[in-house]
Amino acid sequence: MSEDLSRKKMATRLIHAGAEPDPSTGAIMTPIFQTSTYVQEAPGVNKGFEYARSQNPTRKALETAYAIIENGKYGLAFSSGVAVTDAVIKLLSPGDEVIAAQDMYGGTYRLFTKVFEKFGIRFKYVDTTVAENVSAAITPATKLVWIETPTNPLMNITDIAAVSAITKNAGAILCVDNTFATPYFQNPLDLGADIVMHSATKYLGGHSDVIQGALMMNSKDLYDQLYFIQKSCGAVPGPMDCFLVLRGIKTLHVRMKQHNENGYTIAHFLRKHPSVDKVFWAGFSDHPNHQIAKTQMRGFGGMMSFTLKDDSVEAAKKVLSSTRLFSLAESLGGVESLINHPASMTHASIPREERIKTGLTDGLIRLSVGIEDADDLVEDLKQAIG
Ligand SMILES: *Cc1c(COP(=O)(O)O)cnc(C)c1O
Repeated sequence: MSEDLSRKKMATRLIHAGAEPDPSTGAIMTPIFQTSTYVQEAPGVNKGFEYARSQNPTRKALETAYAIIENGKYGLAFSSGVAVTDAVIKLLSPGDEVIAAQDMYGGTYRLFTKVFEKFGIRFKYVDTTVAENVSAAITPATKLVWIETPTNPLMNITDIAAVSAITKNAGAILCVDNTFATPYFQNPLDLGADIVMHSATKYLGGHSDVIQGALMMNSKDLYDQLYFIQKSCGAVPGPMDCFLVLRGIKTLHVRMKQHNENGYTIAHFLRKHPSVDKVFWAGFSDHPNHQIAKTQMRGFGGMMSFTLKDDSVEAAKKVLSSTRLFSLAESLGGVESLINHPASMTHASIPREERIKTGLTDGLIRLSVGIEDADDLVEDLKQAIG
């Protein structure tokens, strides 16, 4: 593809990113190069591929696509979202400090506290929805600021541009977990972030059939360091998984439009339901960070959470086990709707007191609204909530 995709609109970029006809056959889909090594003509004379942990053509096509869809210069694919987080923290040294959002994906918190604290990296958790809290927490040892926006599962919004200005001023790196918004709705690199990460398992893959992580950045120096970590630590995805994510990305825009439309319908349905107490969704005009959400996002998507007026675990469990279209499962971002109980499932690794402090109560229910017919989804929730 000789076309300059950087000048094209999002839908065109998503479909054509990384896609070159295979030079040996003309195949329009990137072949799955299921190989561990490459035959060399003479020692050191090769086609740029030596060993598949370091380079694989299917992965290379996907990494090119990753860069293009986030308006970045470089992309890297890892075997999972947490492998990406692991790689980014490995940029640091013992004694370095990370400022992280107090309300994040539970697995990120677990990796920080249970794995990296042991290696002498220090983590401070702050409410990043107030950018001043980040500046107040910065010290000369701060090397990285890690935010997630919207957050999982409370849909809190952090002002990326404001935190980026603070982080730059301190000479630290800003990494944004953009899993929930996806590149279709939000592009953190354009707002000043240094690194964007995605659990590609979710919306980028989009079909609940692959585990993968993505990294995007503009700095050659960061790319070189992270590529070195990728090949040295070895958390690389297999070529079949890269193919699946490449295929998923081609329909991201169509899926996200529908997730957004269905999300709007479900959020408003829940809000009007007499048994529902709070609904957490950034699209409501009275969401505390709605103004920032509206400025930095182009849509609010299908992720939301809610509590019942009866905030007991029993009442929540009754809803969680009564839905028929919404499947009770961890994960999110697939075409099918999922329902989840963060306190006992995705966020069980966060100690209860920490959880409650951030508003993640025992009765909170999270929805990943899929792209089925919205009327059927409303009916399903109606019969489950009663
Ligand atoms: C799922 C998820 C991750 C972790 O990704 P895996 O692909 O499961 O390793 C990180 N951040 C967010 C926001 C997630 O939802």
